[in-house]
Amino acid sequence: RKREMEGVEQRKHRRLVLVPGPFQGHLTPMLQLGTILHSRGFSITIAHTKFNHPHPSSHPDFHFLCIEDRLSKDEVQSRDLVSLVLTLNTKCEQPLREFLAQDRIACVFYDALMYFSESAARPLKIPSVILHTNSAASSLARSFLHQLKALGFIPLQESMLQDPVPQLQPLRFKDLPISHFGRLEDHLQLISLAGDIRTSSALVWNTLECLEESPLAQLREDYRVPIFSLGPLNKLAPAGSSSSSTGLLEEDNACISWLDKQCRNSVIYISLGSIASIDDRQLMEMAWGLANSGQPFLWVVRPNLVRGSEWSGFESLSKGFKEIVEERGCIVKWAPQRRVLSHGSVGGFWSHCGWNSTLESICEGVPMIRQPCFGDQRVNARYLTSVWKVGYELGDGENDRRSVEKAIRELMVGTQGEEMRQRMSKLKDKVEVSIQEGGSSYGSLERLIEFLQSI
Ligand code: UDP
Repeated sequence: RKREMEGVEQRKHRRLVLVPGPFQGHLTPMLQLGTILHSRGFSITIAHTKFNHPHPSSHPDFHFLCIEDRLSKDEVQSRDLVSLVLTLNTKCEQPLREFLAQDRIACVFYDALMYFSESAARPLKIPSVILHTNSAASSLARSFLHQLKALGFIPLQESMLQDPVPQLQPLRFKDLPISHFGRLEDHLQLISLAGDIRTSSALVWNTLECLEESPLAQLREDYRVPIFSLGPLNKLAPAGSSSSSTGLLEEDNACISWLDKQCRNSVIYISLGSIASIDDRQLMEMAWGLANSGQPFLWVVRPNLVRGSEWSGFESLSKGFKEIVEERGCIVKWAPQRRVLSHGSVGGFWSHCGWNSTLESICEGVPMIRQPCFGDQRVNARYLTSVWKVGYELGDGENDRRSVEKAIRELMVGTQGEEMRQRMSKLKDKVEVSIQEGGSSYGSLERLIEFLQSI
């Protein structure tokens, strides 16, 4: 214990700079990693873009540096997130380097998307470590996309969608992590730039050996630097700290008191994350599927969830639906999701299968209905159904109210749902073992701290 305290004292003056990706699903795990490293004695500076910046007041232990990203108004409003990230990488390198040159920095941790950080740190001889906020399986699948394109499999052909991808079992071609933002060429360019580790000294994945042993083993063969499987970051963060908000949008906590009034395991929670969007018709089918299922529901309808229209409340969905919401529904713009999933009333999660949402659901033992929208969500969704067997398969995107109703009933009160709930509960137990002393993620964290001391 004395040695541990001395270690903390020695590290106090060691500053780490963390560069998160500017999207909710990237920001949260980086802030959680910062919390963990801060609790182990390091000083933390979060160097973030002006675009989608985090809120410093929620994190009084960190220093913040806002990188002047000089994005134009059109770039900020663009839906082409791939070209936005490429642009950020060209515009942010110099300002970050100027900042890094002013201070003594022990190491830069950067989100794989923010590869300009390595270019800024390298000339100053500051070591860098990459954080991957997606699953190991989706990183592996991404690294194959160029090869598949060279073989003529991409763009995907309709006739092959159900076929397995030989090197990527259990993925089928339809599960490949291909973005629908912008041009395919830009997407592939971003994948190779973000997948190139350059001179970085180590790689961190927010994942666990018990979930992704085989893709992690494959990645360890492919890369020659240490790989730390350090998940779930939200559970490794010291108790209490992970409840601090990492959200870009304000959380509506009123839904927790609504959940308090519902029966155990009765509520289906619906969220498609921070980026995915749907059209009016899909919203309508979701709403009536929910209504007809007879289950209580908590539904996140973010301001830009519905393409082309500003959400103006459920009045737009007709009077009949409004009555159903009053009777057994709760609709919010943004929920405190981790608290929601840990609430005893929540019995199922209908999700777009973003990696954070997937991990958060597993951590709380909540079985899922999977509705992947794009990119790595498809890989996660495939693992949920075919590897861990804890996710009910709803089609990708276009679902009519009947299939929605059937999926909800099956998950919440059917036998398939019950089996999934039991398997999910076992996964939850495995996650808990992984983060305890002697567990794989616990060990990974200890090794990462030793590694940071050695560089
Ligand atoms: N989230 C939240 N409230 C909501 C919806 C989502 O706090 O109403 C959080 C969720 O807990 C997760 C993140 O937003 O940590 C979404 O990340 P994910 O990787 O699941 O999806 P993305 O938004 O990147 O598509």
